[in-house]
Amino acid sequence: MDARQAAFRAEYQQKISPRYSGWLHGAWIAGAGLGYIGVVLAQVDRGGWAWLSFAVAFAVANLGEWALHRYVLHRRIPALSALWHRHTVEHHHYFTQDCMTVDSHREYRIIFFPPYAVLGIAAIHLLLGALWSLPFGRDAMWIWMAGGMSHYLLYEILHTAAHLPEHPLLRRLPAVNTMRRNHWIHHHHALMSTWNMNLTVPLADWLFGSSDLDCGLWRTLGNGYRMDRLRPEVRDALPDSAFPPSAAGRGRDTAARS
Ligand SMILES: [Zn+2]
Ligand SMILES: [Zn+2]
Repeated sequence: MDARQAAFRAEYQQKISPRYSGWLHGAWIAGAGLGYIGVVLAQVDRGGWAWLSFAVAFAVANLGEWALHRYVLHRRIPALSALWHRHTVEHHHYFTQDCMTVDSHREYRIIFFPPYAVLGIAAIHLLLGALWSLPFGRDAMWIWMAGGMSHYLLYEILHTAAHLPEHPLLRRLPAVNTMRRNHWIHHHHALMSTWNMNLTVPLADWLFGSSDLDCGLWRTLGNGYRMDRLRPEVRDALPDSAFPPSAAGRGRDTAARS
């Protein structure tokens, strides 16, 4: 990591409250999200075809994640500039292609959504589920709500996994390995506004042509760490086309920390 990133990190860490705990933050999101899913699924009467609502809600949430990331988090819209600042200015300067990882649970402060966000996601899927219930009934509403919240929890898990240090398990786990490489590409400043806007599974990226990979849907979803399917324009913009980043890059990390 270069001196600029190291200075940004040091300054940001000083602003985190001494009472902040990344474990508590994560436990709140997991507890509230899983509690919500448990409560709504307990209301399901028969299920049947209504279980398809889970996949529909998941796909809609995937498109929503892509659109929010592309059009709000990476564009400065005056009324929503706080979201842009937190993501493009803070998150993308704290984590760059040279250093994507955390050293302490206190740094989860800059990875997780703020604690109130899970309540907003719960309300959004209550509303969408209610609309979905108009043609498809109450079971479809409860299952939609579970699908939408599951997508959010998966987002938090995979985005956090993308910022953990390299580990053989992370390299082998499907979806986790794909997102770790995808998100490393996204964290290059020259590429962040255009490529790899999904943080769960790259479904919308593939659909709208913003995946950095030039291949079909199944290969895009299961790409793992492979770097031989890059679009030429992405390959040309990469200073280092090996993933995980080279030992030289990790050497720079160590030098900057010491
Ligand atoms: Zn990130
Ligand atoms: Zn981003």
